[in-house]
Order: sequence, then structure tokens, then C-alpha cells
Amino acid sequence: FASGEQKDVVIIGGGPGGYVAAIKAGQMGFNVACVEGRGRLGGTCLNVGCIPSKALLASSHLMHEIQKNAESHGIIVDGARLDIAKMMAQKDKAVSGLTKGIEGLFKKYKVEYVKGWGKLVGKGQVEVALLDGGSSTISTRNIIIATGSEVSPLPGLTIDEERIVSSTGALSLKEVPKKLVVIGGGYIGLEMGSVWERLGSEVTVVEFGPAIVPTMDGEVRKAFERSLKKQGFNFKLNTKVTGAAVEGDSVKLTVEPAKGGESETIEADVVLVSAGRRPYYEGLGLESVGVELDKRGRIQVDNRFKTTADDVYAIGDVIDGPMLAHKAEEDGVACVENLAGKAGHVNYNTVPSIVYTHPEVASVGKTEEQVKAEGQEYKVGKFAFVANSRARAVDDTEGMVKFIADKKTDKILGVHIMGPNAGELIHECVVAMEYACGVASMEDMLCTIWTPSTYQESSKYAGIPILITQYLAW
Ligand code: FAD
Repeated sequence: FASGEQKDVVIIGGGPGGYVAAIKAGQMGFNVACVEGRGRLGGTCLNVGCIPSKALLASSHLMHEIQKNAESHGIIVDGARLDIAKMMAQKDKAVSGLTKGIEGLFKKYKVEYVKGWGKLVGKGQVEVALLDGGSSTISTRNIIIATGSEVSPLPGLTIDEERIVSSTGALSLKEVPKKLVVIGGGYIGLEMGSVWERLGSEVTVVEFGPAIVPTMDGEVRKAFERSLKKQGFNFKLNTKVTGAAVEGDSVKLTVEPAKGGESETIEADVVLVSAGRRPYYEGLGLESVGVELDKRGRIQVDNRFKTTADDVYAIGDVIDGPMLAHKAEEDGVACVENLAGKAGHVNYNTVPSIVYTHPEVASVGKTEEQVKAEGQEYKVGKFAFVANSRARAVDDTEGMVKFIADKKTDKILGVHIMGPNAGELIHECVVAMEYACGVASMEDMLCTIWTPSTYQESSKYAGIPILITQYLAW
């Protein structure tokens, strides 16, 4: 890169937070550089997260449809078999196409792409250990830290990415494990478990807590757990993993009740450690410029993404909030807008989250449990996909749409959808909640025309009971 020149902004990390911030900065006319150490742009999400997992979910869903569901539509496929190398190649093609696309956008918006590991070495100084060898120091007015997160380790388990794997290893297995144990019932573990379960693995999820995906609305979660069990998932809840030993081609996992008690051994071909992620800032030199952490070990920022050090900002997984790609992207845009003197802001109440299993589960806003705990008066409207014409037509009827609205104001407080394409259906609800700072009412939603023979129509019918009680109240 052009040494000696001072940048307006240097962004450390080229994931969804970092690359979106870099492109936005370029678009706004800043002289910007983005430092990325993995040799490819796109971060966790594009390289070993969202994109490869969605590719494998799509491939394995196709296999499952052919093997289990095609026959009920009168389509008989004999001898369907798996070519795992080809499946992985399709995934890799999707990843490399997208990462190269970002490089193209960097060129278009004049973002300097610096390949290497960045480190803060003083006010406005970023030292980069270049991947090609040697190091160089960039001086800059502002620094944005976007270094993301990494898999949280579990005591007693050593990840070798072959027998004991993280999500990264689970995205590149060379054969279908006969028995797969997933440690952690969060969305990443369930998505990866789904991939391998559909391809033939017997999957057991070991979860320390009393429920899978604890942030999910309780009613929807129960339906989701039932559905996964029907698909073949085994769940061992309230269970603690205490150790693992690799013996030849198998792993012996020792578990015991979460509250203590007799231990047992579970044998598996592969164990996936998926018990959460933690912010990543190893070797970043935070202390050299006075960047402090919050109580949970994430980089502390104010509502303008400023850290405790002047002219140093942080965004994405490395700061507080849901560890999701779209949240990191929104942080990036808002942070750069603030640098440009504008009023960048992210509404964390309307960050949607999606579990891309089948059926999908998508939600935005509060769960019924949260609303109840806050003592708010609320109404619930529900509609089951079993009564939806499109779902009946395609024979994919599991799940429901559930709306939670304020009893007095009719304001939408939360939406929870389990069902086919839930991840697509949630977005109009996000838009509704976003309108006028989250005061779109159920009535606004229902005054909209919804097309019949769509899954989306279920949202209309889920809202009708709420509207009827509203009219009666008026
Ligand atoms: P990251 O994407 O982690 O990017 C940080 C980048 O910084 C990395 O490329 C790293 O190499 C680089 N870096 C770190 N330190 C340095 C340094 N010192 N110098 C230079 N470079 C550095 N989210 C969703 O919203 N939807 C999904 O479907 C989804 N699926 C997922 C599936 C899996 C299996 C996993 C693991 C995650 C998934 N996520 C998903 C989460 C999503 O990947 C993250 O929330 C997102 O990538 C965070 O973006 P980020 O920019 O903050 O960090």
C-alpha cells in the first residue's frame, strides 16, 4: 500500500462488519484501508460460517427431499447417492465467488486491501505483519476494530478438526459420520447437526441448559424441538461434558448431569464443539492505546461505537449484541456514518434471527416470555401452516406464525415464525416494526394486500385474532 500517506480510516478485519464499513467509507469519499489476515475477505461469515453452512444445508435438504419426500409427490428416484467431494466443491465455489466479489467492490470504491495481521501500536498507528513477509505501519486518523469472534473452547476437549471439530471442521468432513455428537444446542450446532443428520448421521445434541436455543419463544421452541426429534435428533439436555478421548477412529465423550451425578460415556465418530463463540482480539495490542473490555470480555463501546480510546471504534461480533452477520454490517454502516458527522444508528430491537434448519425458525422482537416478565399487557395471534393453502399444496405443513402485540396500542412487539421459508417471511415483519421507529400496528400489517397461495398469507391470518380483539376494544 501507499506507505507514508495518512489514511482517514483503517479497518482491522475484513468480515461482514469490516468489509461493509470499508465499502461504505469508500462510498463516502474517505481514504480507507482494510487489513485482513486470513488471506480472503468475507470473515467468518463468508469463509467458515453463514455461506458454507447454507450451501451444505441446501445440498443436504435436496438429498433429503429426494430420499424422503419426492415419493409422496409421485416422483420415484432409484439409487440416489452422495458424492461428498462434489457437494463440498459446490460449497467452495459459492464461497470463493462471493469473496472475490468483495475484492471487486473494494476496487470499485477505492478501498485499499492490506493482506496481513494488524496491530495497534500507538495513537493512529496500525502495524501490519504482511502475509507476503515483512511488516509495515499505516498511520490513520481513525481505526475501526472489526476482528470478529472465534469458537469458545471447552475445558477437557482439544479440537483437532478431524474427530473433535469446531463448526469449521464440521463444514469440511470427508465422510458422513455414523454417529455425530453436537455439544451445544444453539443455532450453529442445530444447523450443522441437520446437515449431517439429513445425510445419514445419527445425531445427539448434548446441551448444558434445560432447553435448546434458549433465546427462542418458548412455544415455538417446543414445536421446533418436537420437529427435530421427529427428524431423528436425540437430545440430552441438562447435561455437562467433562472430557473426551480420541481412540482410533472414535471419540469417547464423558458426560454427567449438569447439577452433578453419575457420569456416562457416549461414543461418536465425530464430536462437534459448538458451545458458543467469544470475541477475538488476540495480539491486537488493545492495551497499547487504552481500549478497554466490558464485563463479558467484549470491546466496550459507547452508542457511537467509540471505544475507551480516542479515534478507535469497534463493531460486529467483537462488541456487545447478537453475534450475527447482518448486525455486524449495520454496525459498520452506522459507525462510518458517524465518522462522517451523520447520525448513524442501529435499532437492536429489530435485528431478526433465523435458524436455517427445516423447518426454518425466524424471529424478531420480544418473545412471549419477555413480554410477560416485563408485565406488559399483550395479545397473541397465531396461525398454523397446516391450514395454509400453499403449505398444504407442497405438503410442508409444520409450524406456525405467531404475533405478539401490545394490548392497548396494537404495536407489534415480536414475531416468531417456524415453517417453510420462515427466514424469508420474517422480513416484512421487520419492515413493519421498523416503520415509524417500531410503531407499525397490527392493523397496518392487515390493511396490506396479501397474496393467496403463499406462505406469507399465514401472517395475515395470524394477525386477524389480534385485530378482532382490537376492534371489540374500540
Ligand atoms: P468476522 O466475520 O469474524 O470477521 C473478522 C475478520 O477479522 C476475520 O476474517 C479475521 O481473520 C480478521 N482478523 C481478526 N484479527 C485480525 C487482525 N489482527 N488483523 C487482520 N485481520 C484480523 N450469522 C448470520 O447472521 N447468519 C448466519 O446464517 C450465520 N451462520 C453462521 C454459521 C456458522 C457456522 C458460524 C461460525 C457463524 C455464523 N454466523 C451467522 C455468524 C457470523 O458469521 C458472524 O456474526 C459474522 O461473521 C461477524 O462478522 P464480523 O465482521 O464481526 O467478524
